[in-house]
Amino acid sequence: MSGKQTAYQKCINPKCGAEFATTESMFKCPTCGDLLDIKYNWENINVPKKLSDFRKRWSTRNNRLDFSGVWRFRELLNFCPDENKISIGEGQTLLERNDNLASFLGVDAGNLFLQYEGLNPSGSFKDNGMTAAFSHADMVGAKSCACASTGNTSAAVAVYANHCGLKCTVFIGSGRIAFGKLSQAMDYGAKTIQILGDFDDCMKQVQDVCTNMGLYLLNSLNPFRLEGQKTIMYRIIEGLGWEVPDWIIVPGGNLGNSSAFGKAFAELKQLGLIEKIPRLAIINASGADTLTDLVNNKSLRWNDGHIDTAIIDDYYAELTAKNYSPHTCASAIEISRPVNLKKCLRAIDVCDGIVTSVTDSEITDAKALIGRYGLGCEPASAATIAGLKNLLASSEIKPGEKIACVLTGHCLKDPDVTVNYHKDLQGSYSNAPVECENDLDKIIKLMSQC
Ligand SMILES: *Cc1c(COP(=O)(O)O)cnc(C)c1O
Ligand SMILES: [Zn+2]
Repeated sequence: MSGKQTAYQKCINPKCGAEFATTESMFKCPTCGDLLDIKYNWENINVPKKLSDFRKRWSTRNNRLDFSGVWRFRELLNFCPDENKISIGEGQTLLERNDNLASFLGVDAGNLFLQYEGLNPSGSFKDNGMTAAFSHADMVGAKSCACASTGNTSAAVAVYANHCGLKCTVFIGSGRIAFGKLSQAMDYGAKTIQILGDFDDCMKQVQDVCTNMGLYLLNSLNPFRLEGQKTIMYRIIEGLGWEVPDWIIVPGGNLGNSSAFGKAFAELKQLGLIEKIPRLAIINASGADTLTDLVNNKSLRWNDGHIDTAIIDDYYAELTAKNYSPHTCASAIEISRPVNLKKCLRAIDVCDGIVTSVTDSEITDAKALIGRYGLGCEPASAATIAGLKNLLASSEIKPGEKIACVLTGHCLKDPDVTVNYHKDLQGSYSNAPVECENDLDKIIKLMSQC
């Protein structure tokens, strides 16, 4: 779709390739049912000549769009007018250079960075996507919205919906949600519906509900959401003094982030704003490792968009036949039918990516290390460091390479996992509280033993 508009939607299936205006609202290609992409007519957009030109927005932070860590890169996600752009101050996040953790893991000093997305308004990276999707919802005049969620999506949707005055329903699986996240959805006033099933069941229901009732869908199927999530990569580059790292490491759940990161780098390269594309390592939990299985064991590939979908169909048919439900303490990535699988394969292709999975005990140990040496994170985020540890051991990642791990959620999101790990001495870095009698001498004696 060319012409004067800056952006349009396009089906990712090369056999279809249907195009739609950004003023339309749908979450799947109405022609073939595949995923939709946002495409740009770059010639109509005033993109800065170099990435460091975005630095000028630091001095105009009283402008709400320049303050936002998403919208200050707005030329790179130019799909709606400024007056529709919603912001609650998302993306004020930190790229933390962490030499202590680097030294522990055997990475050279100055080479390990943690992108702490827990600093977002609702405490997870999801806000980067929601600010973009809600801006689109505003542009199309949506009145009511919904999402399926393992937790953080519902928290982010609820706070943005509240801000925009949209009615909001969130679907969660039974017993699978961390309390920190559920408490947010309730507090922000979302109608919460608990489905007797897992996330994949919720994801299927919410699509039918949205289609039936004309609700605006906010899962990462929504291509506008992924546009906002691209900015996590821009901020990493910014944090590195406008250089790209050698590796990006990210947990893989519904695979929206990994998909968005791949798209971000492909576009930056196309625009001549970066010379080198970093490699991407996507880390699954071993109890929810569809991507790892499909890529490493079944050789599923992007193949220029001509994906061998029979591999996916057979795999999912097997999961159904086994009545399989994923299980991991990292509830944010407890997903066995990732909706962005195909876009993620494209990201792996673009970034020469690799995929691996880590066990729950590797995740909780890594989480304790991140807490001990840094700002902390929730379990799913710690899959990055657990994965890095293994990838260093297998020499796929070298100590001399520059590595940025995306810590996707705040450490207070899932206090249960943290408390159980430490109190019940579940892992190598457990730090249990000790009891003591209410007596000064005994307290002093105990403390001098520590
Ligand atoms: C949603 C979420 C993930 C998974 O991200 P995807 O983009 O779905 O792969 C990982 N960590 C946290 C904390 C999340 O909230
Ligand atoms: Zn299509």
